[in-house]
Amino acid sequence: MIEGYPEIGKDVSALRVTPNLVDWAGQRQTWSWDDAWAELDMPGGLINKAYECVDRHANGARANKDAIIWQSADGNIERYTYAQLKTQSNKVANAFRAMGVKKGDRVFFLSDRIPELYFAIFGCLKLGAIVAPLFSAFGPEPIRERVARAEGSVIVTTPKLLSKVNEIRAQLPSVQRVVVIAHREGKDVASEDVAYSSIVDPASEAFEIEQTRAEDWSIMHFTSGTTGLPKGAAHVHNAIVSHYATGKYVLDFHEDDIYWCTADPGWVTGTSYGIFAPFSNGVTSVIDEGGFGARRWYETIQRHKVTIWYTAPTAIRLLMKAGVELPRSHDLTSLRYVMSVGEPLNPEGVVWGQEAFDLPIHDNWWQTETGAIMCANYISMPIRPGSMGRPFPGVTVTVINEDGTEITEPMVEGQLVVKPGWPSMFRTYWNDQERYDSRFKNGWYYTGDKAKKDEDGYIWFVGRDDDVINTAGHLVSPFEVESVLIEHEAVAEAGVIGKPDEVAMEVVKAFVTLNDGFERTDALLRDLNRHARARLGPAVAPREIEIIDILPKTRSGKIMRRLLKARELGLPEGDTSTLEED
Ligand code: ATP
Ligand code: MG
Repeated sequence: MIEGYPEIGKDVSALRVTPNLVDWAGQRQTWSWDDAWAELDMPGGLINKAYECVDRHANGARANKDAIIWQSADGNIERYTYAQLKTQSNKVANAFRAMGVKKGDRVFFLSDRIPELYFAIFGCLKLGAIVAPLFSAFGPEPIRERVARAEGSVIVTTPKLLSKVNEIRAQLPSVQRVVVIAHREGKDVASEDVAYSSIVDPASEAFEIEQTRAEDWSIMHFTSGTTGLPKGAAHVHNAIVSHYATGKYVLDFHEDDIYWCTADPGWVTGTSYGIFAPFSNGVTSVIDEGGFGARRWYETIQRHKVTIWYTAPTAIRLLMKAGVELPRSHDLTSLRYVMSVGEPLNPEGVVWGQEAFDLPIHDNWWQTETGAIMCANYISMPIRPGSMGRPFPGVTVTVINEDGTEITEPMVEGQLVVKPGWPSMFRTYWNDQERYDSRFKNGWYYTGDKAKKDEDGYIWFVGRDDDVINTAGHLVSPFEVESVLIEHEAVAEAGVIGKPDEVAMEVVKAFVTLNDGFERTDALLRDLNRHARARLGPAVAPREIEIIDILPKTRSGKIMRRLLKARELGLPEGDTSTLEED
């Protein structure tokens, strides 16, 4: 817990919309996944993500409702209804089946956020193929490595990204076809490749969805690579009930919401919460092809009257850096709920939301492996800034000690674990069953994170297992030190590591980047040290603070502490396939 951040109370009766979850404790008592399933539709026992997200609505009252409001990089708008999403995905399913794609095949996606990406993902799910998204900014080697590991048979891409595929294609014997979505760029497609429009345009609009069941594979996501080599976490169609239920009760989807998830489908947030949760709930999503830009983002919210916004700490810190004048000069009054995931959200970020949008930012926690949100700050529940909130009603998340027993004493640090059996649990690491098995022990799934739980069941992130620092017998949370450092007006971002030390075992070292208008001076360093010692005490405050120009981050925006450490100690950098390059 970081001192100085009081609880942010909630007056539920003053909220614009009555939340779907008003009584967390009561919901926990009575929760049943069967009740959640009962709100979905399983004709003849079919369990298929595309059916629940698209056809279910297209066949009913939401047929003519917008599923997607797409904004191109240069600001053009296209809208697609649920009915159109159904026909477009059916056409893809027919075209891909004719090309030889069948149930269980791995189809990779390397594409910008364009409508066809979404049509094709749903089309492949309808076929029973396994969707394997890649982040479009990956270079050839990370693409090769992932496609090879999963023996992908098809890669779907665009002309702009094709050259990266071509560089490694000869090394990928499993790949039979490369489908190029070229019509938007007005490009021709080479004869050895397949033009998306040449097979999809003439295809039939009618398709009978492959009879997938709960345990059939649906999607495989590679983890962010924050702690090492990315792992291919594979999920099944059963996960859709988690996406639906967390969409309803955490994201608080209501019929009229306009929702914007800023994550790219190359990462799990961009599919679980950019696709499956909103579409299974039948809401309208904004999809922006463009990248981050503070002004662009505020304009997007204003233009489309976004009501629910799901983003990430890295973006929030960049928005903070751009100041509160910018949001204040836009009409952002449509917003009713803002959430964040991907990294710990510094309490300063939670509070900044109130300044910028008159709304606090709600942090929630989950990971590629869990497939869906596991604990959250709900719209109806008071926020304790710096906490990831409380477990989702249908799941058991807790902290345990070394011997696998649950820690009952409040605020004692332990391993963050989940009771296996939640619907969206990953079912393997592709071609690495041994590593998968090693994550399950003592009846728990080990998340690899450390956390504490307070007397009211709020969970507080401490750090990644490997990142927690042991200095002179104290266990120090890098997140806590970073959060205090960014309180300082000069500091934009901070990354904290433990540096080996003969006496103390490890000492705390901090790397910080500065906000615009601040200079790297001795006086500033002294002031930073003073601030850290005053807030954290001498045992926890960094022994060294170094000002650097940029922090190494994954392409999904997470601070890579292992790289800071390797560089500090002159050690090999390990896998850097997901490192963001500026
Ligand atoms: P890899 O497993 O390859 O090292 P990764 O763990 O970053 O990469 P993801 O599955 O994208 O890959 O990220 C999940 C992890 O991100 C969590 O285990 C946790 O460490 C961190 N995380 C996500 N959300 C939060 C949050 N709200 N608070 C704290 N940490 C979070
Ligand atoms: Mg991980």
